[in-house]
Amino acid sequence: MEALIEAANWQQLIQETAAHHAQLIAVSKTKSNAAIQALYDLGQRDFGENYVQEFVSKQASLPKDICWHFIGHLQRNKVKQIVGIATVIHGVDSERLLQEINKEAAKKNCVQAVLLQYFIAQEETKFGLDAAEIEAIIAQKEQYAHVQFLGLMGMATHTTDQHQIKKEFEQVIQLKQHLKALYFKEAAAFSMASIGMSSDYTIALAVGATHIRIGSMLFGARTYPS
Ligand SMILES: *Cc1c(COP(=O)(O)O)cnc(C)c1O
Repeated sequence: MEALIEAANWQQLIQETAAHHAQLIAVSKTKSNAAIQALYDLGQRDFGENYVQEFVSKQASLPKDICWHFIGHLQRNKVKQIVGIATVIHGVDSERLLQEINKEAAKKNCVQAVLLQYFIAQEETKFGLDAAEIEAIIAQKEQYAHVQFLGLMGMATHTTDQHQIKKEFEQVIQLKQHLKALYFKEAAAFSMASIGMSSDYTIALAVGATHIRIGSMLFGARTYPS
């Protein structure tokens, strides 16, 4: 039988992230509860999911001390199912989505932690806000009383050009630092940079990722696409 998880890769990733004071998010989309449980048993607690239905059913049946990161593209009509359950919503890619999250969190009387998704890739297929849109939102952050802005998320272009990837990730770090200095007083605020996946996480860690999102390297290749 094929192994559910790549335990040796997990060990290595834990060491690499620790060396960079970063955290590992295990991206478990399309993978079974048994595979998630196997990684949990090794000590992994942060998991990332992309699809609302899958997220909801896994969250309901797996251990309650898992921190669930919603990393997919979230539609406004599905916000209800995610707010108050996800530890962090990574891919906030429009103001209308943010407003919906704030509204839903107010109803549930909670504060939802989010990352704004910065569009850095040279691919029209990816989602995200540009730097000016992100700054406009942060400048008005008092409007979102039920949202906590933890930082930025980004996805680099799918390319073998390491310099290109590095440049794109650096944009995320620079924008985060810029906004942090201008709009946040507490040292720990707006510090999160969720960048890097299996193919490019070493570059992300080198430029200052605080969170990397790793799927295939931990669970093997997926049989249906992301
Ligand atoms: C699927 C996915 C990942 C993980 O990708 P791998 O290449 O399998 O490591 C990371 N981030 C997002 C947003 C994803 O959709």
